[in-house]
Amino acid sequence: MKKDPDKKISPLAGLPSVDELLKSPEYAGLLKDYPRALVVQAIRETIAAERKRIAEKSRPLSSREELASLVAARIGVLSSFSLRPVINATGIVLHTNLGRAALSERAIRNVLEVSRGYSNLEYDLTAGRRGKRHVHTARLLRQLIGAEDALIVNNNAAAVFLCLNTLAKCREVIVSRGELVEIGGSFRVPDVMTASGAVLREVGTTNKTHLHDYRSAINQGTGLILKVHQSNYQVVGFTEDVPPADLVPLGREHGIPVMFDLGSGCLIDLKPFGIHAEPSVQEILKTGVDIVTFSGDKLLGGPQGGIIVGRKDLVEQIRRNPLARAVRVDKMTIAAFEATLMDYIDPQQAIRGIPVLNMLFQPVDSIRKRARKIAAALRRKKAAAGIRVISDVSRAGGGSLPEASFETYAVSVVPELISVNDLEARLRSGELPVISRIRDNALLLDARTVSDRELVRLVQIVAAALSGA
Ligand SMILES: *Cc1c(COP(=O)(O)O)cnc(C)c1O
Repeated sequence: MKKDPDKKISPLAGLPSVDELLKSPEYAGLLKDYPRALVVQAIRETIAAERKRIAEKSRPLSSREELASLVAARIGVLSSFSLRPVINATGIVLHTNLGRAALSERAIRNVLEVSRGYSNLEYDLTAGRRGKRHVHTARLLRQLIGAEDALIVNNNAAAVFLCLNTLAKCREVIVSRGELVEIGGSFRVPDVMTASGAVLREVGTTNKTHLHDYRSAINQGTGLILKVHQSNYQVVGFTEDVPPADLVPLGREHGIPVMFDLGSGCLIDLKPFGIHAEPSVQEILKTGVDIVTFSGDKLLGGPQGGIIVGRKDLVEQIRRNPLARAVRVDKMTIAAFEATLMDYIDPQQAIRGIPVLNMLFQPVDSIRKRARKIAAALRRKKAAAGIRVISDVSRAGGGSLPEASFETYAVSVVPELISVNDLEARLRSGELPVISRIRDNALLLDARTVSDRELVRLVQIVAAALSGA
């Protein structure tokens, strides 16, 4: 077909080809800075998007200059990571959507150290032969919480699944109706039970379950008595549940193991912080419970993982389950765990060094100070907004400490040139996204979860977003 520039039949005919663009001078710079494959990909995607827009008649054909800038923008997207850091200004410390626990400096350094080269992951340095990867974390877990043995798997959901599958496959598991909970992100106790091959035996009612309910459910086919932490939900008022200390003798009497899925297990005593309803993992184990499971990246403040602690013979059985291999953790996780657990040898060091504990239990005065610093810096930058520091309450998040509320301070921002929804969207779509919340037409930046090293960037980002442009 002969080209005739004066007679365009369809606007699509005006679209240049990939080769044509690659040869044109506007793209020489891009080809110098980025791999050719990336530039080609960006051009292809831009032309495809252009073709679609033309077909939908939503926009006339872009000029060559416009095309070039669209391609450059697309290269920006293609050459940057999808998973990247954000500033959490929600005040929710264990925000599941924002990656839950931030790791301690010690854990980060250890991950770098161990993953840069080789390690003794499964090598016994004393014997000079093959070793086991679980030993690296089992030693500290035994020492810290007095467990006979320990195993870490991919997450707590996997831990619960693996325990049920090992200890109660094709057998009945007795659970209180008040504990058949769903934890955000589709972890439902009855569904996990079915998937593991165990048979759910519900006892009691939603608000009240008694020891005799458990007792009368025991039969030849009972494999396990399970207690589940209610996590993000609470039954208040006319309620009763059976504490692990009462379930243990019942289990012993019938030779049935008792397991407690703690969800967010905590290794320090929280009573000095005014939290009385949350016993530590150590306290739970002292009641004689046979197996306890909890998450690595909730209150513990470590990497994602599911920790199984308890009776040596049972943990050994769980470790031998072929499924254990399918949910095993890698060396980076083990490195992060060992370093995080090391901080717990001194509980004061744990509170100083582990970001989750640090953010949850920092004195409210330091949160107020940080909020005032942010507000003052925004005012100095003449940000176009009404700016105030307000007191507020935040929650731990991640289904942890559901009954505890934490006094906090936030910077309330009421934009003058744009809507509060626009501001929230702008903050979220920048190079370093800021995640905030809106209440009563004001944008709130909770100072609890913003670290001191993020302050300068945060103020720059918010000030820039507020300038109407
Ligand atoms: C959070 C939670 C889980 C799931 O733990 P993950 O580490 O997120 O897999 C299971 N059980 C309870 C009670 C929980 O609170």
